[in-house]
Amino acid sequence: MCGIIAYIGSREASPILIEGLKRLEYRGYDSAGVAVVSDSELHLTRSVGRVRGLEDQIIKEGVANGSIGIAHTRWATHGGVTVENAHPHLDDVKQGHSIALVHNGIIENYLTLKKWLEEKGHTFKSETDTEVLAHLVGELYDGDLELAVQAALREVTGAYAIAVVCAEEPDVMVVGRKGSPLMIGVGSHEYVVASDPSAIVEHTKQAFTLDDYSVAKLTRDSIRTSTIDNIEITPQILELELDLGQIELGEFDHYMLKEIHEQPDALQRSLQGRLDLRAGNVVLGGITDFARELATAKRVVFVGQGTALHAAMVGEFLIEGLAKIPTEVEFASEFRYRNPIVEPGTVVIAISQSGETADTLAAIEEAKQKGALTLGLVNVVGSTISRETDAGIYLRVGPEIGVASTKAFIGQLLVTTMLAAFIGRRRYLSQDELQMLLVSMGEIPAQVQSVIKQSDQIKAATSRYVNRDNWLFLGRGLNYPVALEGALKLKEISYIHAEGMPAAEMKHGPIALIDEGMPVVVVATRNSQYEKVLSNIEEVRSRGGHVIAVATEGDEEIRSLTEEVFWVPDVPEPLQPLLTVVPLQLLAYHAAVMRGKDVDKPRNLAKSVTVE
Ligand code: GLU
Repeated sequence: MCGIIAYIGSREASPILIEGLKRLEYRGYDSAGVAVVSDSELHLTRSVGRVRGLEDQIIKEGVANGSIGIAHTRWATHGGVTVENAHPHLDDVKQGHSIALVHNGIIENYLTLKKWLEEKGHTFKSETDTEVLAHLVGELYDGDLELAVQAALREVTGAYAIAVVCAEEPDVMVVGRKGSPLMIGVGSHEYVVASDPSAIVEHTKQAFTLDDYSVAKLTRDSIRTSTIDNIEITPQILELELDLGQIELGEFDHYMLKEIHEQPDALQRSLQGRLDLRAGNVVLGGITDFARELATAKRVVFVGQGTALHAAMVGEFLIEGLAKIPTEVEFASEFRYRNPIVEPGTVVIAISQSGETADTLAAIEEAKQKGALTLGLVNVVGSTISRETDAGIYLRVGPEIGVASTKAFIGQLLVTTMLAAFIGRRRYLSQDELQMLLVSMGEIPAQVQSVIKQSDQIKAATSRYVNRDNWLFLGRGLNYPVALEGALKLKEISYIHAEGMPAAEMKHGPIALIDEGMPVVVVATRNSQYEKVLSNIEEVRSRGGHVIAVATEGDEEIRSLTEEVFWVPDVPEPLQPLLTVVPLQLLAYHAAVMRGKDVDKPRNLAKSVTVE
């Protein structure tokens, strides 16, 4: 969600900042802005809409030459989408010094702080919580920006990643964080600060994540990292495992399509070294130390939001089915705020692509507070959830840029399946049973590839229904979360209204929606619930609905009952979601393109939702 990029060094800052903002565009935003310090003055440019518009404005107004600057893409939380509310925000000129600040996150106590500042004579130009923080730094500024930022952050509750510059100290930048992601890239006589590594990697691969409640003071040749109480800390600089090629579009029209096509490789990478076929075991280094606690767990609770929640729902079936441990799935946001009961023996598992999802992080904090063992299934290495949990498994699917998750979802499914097998093997699964499952798992990447090859056929089928404004997605058992995910994909990027539900639930209400030609997507693979799903298909047909099925290759019976069929290879039931979701991703993609929508930057959405 939203982004920060900041630069201090010997090069011209503006082009680096604009390029960085473009790299961060995928995170989702509604307005953008830049401040450059030049000749001890702040030069501010802000605009509503795309970074391209900001760039045009900068070119029109003339670029301020300066080698230190901060920039921001905003995803509005407090105040409308206007130029006045766009960042950077300045402190009150009345105070006689000029401070510029960009912020990701939410200052929860901003109203109290605002009142206090107003009593001191400050006046505000925006409706944001962020401007309050800029004024607060200004109010506390006494010739040392680092001390002023530390003092201001000691007064603040909420979540923040910030970058601050000040005309009075033109060679200093101070950045800080709590809750929202912020990383510092260490180059030669320069630093690049950003919300994620995609904006850093073209400048340097040496980087570190700033700890919560800490700040860094950067000059061109030095860095000092300290807590907000000014206790010095030594950062651990690591090598970024990210190549530019991974975050560029290449031959594809959209990141989403690129990432759908990357799924076979992504799955292969995720499986690498983790299946021990000979021993009939799953090797998951990140959780091995907790194997005994997992094997004796009394209850598992998955927490997540959006797509990750759907992966968690598949996880519920798998942990109960393969490991026979009572399992539940909760929206992280709901779990966090209803004082959940966490008894000894409870394992709470967070699923999040970015590892920064604020709701999920808050749920993990609550679970830890109550003594649960916590695991994180995340994609971004070193992200907050990966550091806050006791142990975890990385998805290893590579950076995901498309806002609508595809390869991360499939990675979440795979890792959840491996986790269920890992625990299951330590409980009731025999070596033989697991061996058979592992062999099938190893074949999944090639099978996903074979499903992707139907893209043109899926496109043709989609074109026949793309003008319909209401869709249903149905599935049973493990394919029920897949139906939810299919509906979510469609609404996220094509803005078509779509609802997913258990196939049997349809007749308890939603069946009233079905009219002549209404598209109803049914995930109807050969499994334990197949016959029941066929009955649901009949119910749809008898009311004039048109059925688009995802079915098992060779199933002639279903062909005669449906208008369109997308085929998936026959695999053991626990692995079916890994294949059945793929046609639904392609369907949503083609529908969005046909409707002329911005597939990679859907309106109102953010890639990583770092506010609660
Ligand atoms: N809460 C701030 C605002 O609404 C920052 C939002 C963001 O993270 O972009 O301006």
